[in-house]
Amino acid sequence: MSTYTKPLPNVDDDSRPQWEGFKQHKFLLFRCKKCGAWYWPKSFCRNHENAPMFGDLEWTEASGKGKVFAFNIHHMAFHPGFQPDIPYVYALVELDEGPLFGTNIVGIDPHQIKVGMAVEVSYDDITPEWTLPKFKPVGK
Ligand SMILES: [Zn+2]
Repeated sequence: MSTYTKPLPNVDDDSRPQWEGFKQHKFLLFRCKKCGAWYWPKSFCRNHENAPMFGDLEWTEASGKGKVFAFNIHHMAFHPGFQPDIPYVYALVELDEGPLFGTNIVGIDPHQIKVGMAVEVSYDDITPEWTLPKFKPVGK
């Protein structure tokens, strides 16, 4: 059995439901109950007056699809656990629902990645307790 050597997610009460969703291979984002707008991270809705304490938002399963908005290719590991992955890609994916989501792009040579490329979530079950939502080109 291999041991996971990278830092694990830093989870708080605001993000715990999303991580539980990833574990079940569900991609959850905040959605406004009043108008249907999607948010991530947590935010007051831009479209109207808001209930106190983010009361208009609820976790809702989203498509897990989007497009590469921006990316960079890492050629240096800033933590020793990432050394075996060099070069790896950190990207902002513009989700079909609207929010930008920071993630890794996998399943493709980093030099083939293009801004605007259609991608979809690819769940990486890194330990029995943790699943990371990475993205891959659609259909790969
Ligand atoms: Zn709203």
